[in-house]
Amino acid sequence: MAFIFTAGLTNAGLQQMTEADEEVISFKFSPSDKEYIPPSVLITETLIVKPMQVTGFDQNSRKKLDSAFEVLEEIVNSDMFKDRVINFKNSKGERKFASNKGLTNEEIYQKFMEGRETLQQNTPGEMNFFLKLYNRPWSRVIGYTTGDTNVININWKYFKNYKPGDVASNLAHEWIHKIGFDHVSAKEYDSVPYAIGYIVQDMADMLLKQNQLH
Ligand SMILES: [Zn+2]
Repeated sequence: MAFIFTAGLTNAGLQQMTEADEEVISFKFSPSDKEYIPPSVLITETLIVKPMQVTGFDQNSRKKLDSAFEVLEEIVNSDMFKDRVINFKNSKGERKFASNKGLTNEEIYQKFMEGRETLQQNTPGEMNFFLKLYNRPWSRVIGYTTGDTNVININWKYFKNYKPGDVASNLAHEWIHKIGFDHVSAKEYDSVPYAIGYIVQDMADMLLKQNQLH
């Protein structure tokens, strides 16, 4: 499958996801490592996935989107997700994300679970999604969003072939931009949007295979 990469055009406040063909695996410290932090040390509230405005989706697309919402909510509230985010190990073997705004892994996890979008601070505990499906068959852009709105635009050209797990990963990546994390380039795999996007992808694939929920 094609993983999702976002070209970082942060100077214009525009984040585009474009096609790419490289697979990236995210690593973590394990309980036998001295850097390991048990997930039980951090207590967080439940984070709800909440569709706000969803436009342009037909019935089947909406069904796939709803499956993605469901698996995403299951993932972000799991101990495994907590474990993988707080014990994230970057490609240099360090216990930190790239472009982390000075935050530790634990602080990033907590900020994520608070659910306060930069433009919508007053709805803690919710991942609020404003989504718009558009069709641009000749474009290599999977989707885009800008800094002045919570709306995430998704290109039907790619969405139509996505599995719910791909959609969940895509949504996680884009929503992380909405809580204030960016990447300096589309190759900054250790950045918060990419690294957590891969974690969601990985867990979604595993869950959907195991449970055959969707
Ligand atoms: Zn991005």
